[in-house]
Amino acid sequence: DRSLAQADPEVAAAVDRELRRQDGTLEMIASENFAPLAVMEAQGSVLTNKYAEGYPGRRYYGGCEHVDVVEQLAIDRLKALFGAGFANVQPHSGAQANAAVMAALLEPGDTILGLALAHGGHLTHGMHLNFSGRLYDVAAYHVRADDHRVDMAEVDALAHERRPKLIIAGWSAYPRQQDFAEFRRIADEVGAWFMVDMAHFAGLVAAGLHPSPVPHAHVVTSTTHKTLGGPRGGVILSADTELAKKLNSSVFPGQQGGPLEHVIAAKAVAFKLAGEPEFRDRQVRTLAGARILADRLLAESGVGVVSGGTDVHLVLVDLRDSELDGKQAEDRLHRVGITVNRNAVPFDPRPPMVSSGVRIGTAALAARGFDDDDFVIVADVIARALRPQVTDTELDALAARVAALAARHPLYPELQA
Ligand code: PLP
Repeated sequence: DRSLAQADPEVAAAVDRELRRQDGTLEMIASENFAPLAVMEAQGSVLTNKYAEGYPGRRYYGGCEHVDVVEQLAIDRLKALFGAGFANVQPHSGAQANAAVMAALLEPGDTILGLALAHGGHLTHGMHLNFSGRLYDVAAYHVRADDHRVDMAEVDALAHERRPKLIIAGWSAYPRQQDFAEFRRIADEVGAWFMVDMAHFAGLVAAGLHPSPVPHAHVVTSTTHKTLGGPRGGVILSADTELAKKLNSSVFPGQQGGPLEHVIAAKAVAFKLAGEPEFRDRQVRTLAGARILADRLLAESGVGVVSGGTDVHLVLVDLRDSELDGKQAEDRLHRVGITVNRNAVPFDPRPPMVSSGVRIGTAALAARGFDDDDFVIVADVIARALRPQVTDTELDALAARVAALAARHPLYPELQA
């Protein structure tokens, strides 16, 4: 049979250029990571050919004996990793996982309460164009203006006023940890389900470096490709098995048809690796890198940092008082070889397409082996690049430092023969 390069040179060339881009630049998009080769090998396997509607041992197709082994391994490993009693590894993405949970627990028109998108929430927590905003009545809580922490007094007040059926914790651009027990107390008081979407910080939880939501939430969802470092995909977890039937049938046949068993195999591999000491070390470096970055930016660049620091894998740069806006900052960092995304900050005066923030994550570089010394250099480059008065010559010099740093940590050398 023909190789990719033989069958489709155009796609092969674009894939090759993407490998070189990932290798030659510093990837600091907070939702990204580098999947280990073993994960990519599983995802590129013959399991892509198999239909397996149903669940292990209860399939609607023949020939599922081997994918059953794989999916059961993924389920058992995920349960063990997070101390959960129930796991579903079939959601194709984080958004699908959230859709399945909401479909299982809610009726259209029910009220959901999540962190406002503009304050760090996710599209699937009630954004008006998303299924969550179209199907459900949305109430949103916010962070406080003074310290940028989730305003639990507002959560409490809104819960009593709006009587949501579902309260959501978990976020896409929030640099702090939050008290899940307090959310659960409020949910119990108003008779709401409590869901935590740990998509961003799941890797930190797996490593024991972030409080686990599993004992507190009725349901936990996650992606598997952010700090967790696996293939792109979603999962659903629960501490006990009470909701197992409801959640399983909401994923299939409720939301999806055939599961992606090749992705589930890659998830199984990632969950195994997430239990190893090397993974914990990587999460320790991820956290340290984010702290180094926040400290340096605050000390030297003249920009702010939302909430004054971080306890997770990301830093949200606050450019509200800078003449540089989020788009310009994103472009500036791109110019020196650092990839980030602009992001609204709480109480942002600029429109979302421009915004007054950039979100910077350290998980992908930690996966490349970056240590504290490397992150000191990265932080220095970013702090210098974000100075309003930086010159072209200085930016060229920063780009050279970035290229040298990237070259010291080759990405996927096995693929770059
Ligand atoms: N939930 C949160 C908190 C996220 O940040 C994201 C991804 O950005 C998702 C869910 C959605 O994941 P996916 O892009 O896999 O649908």
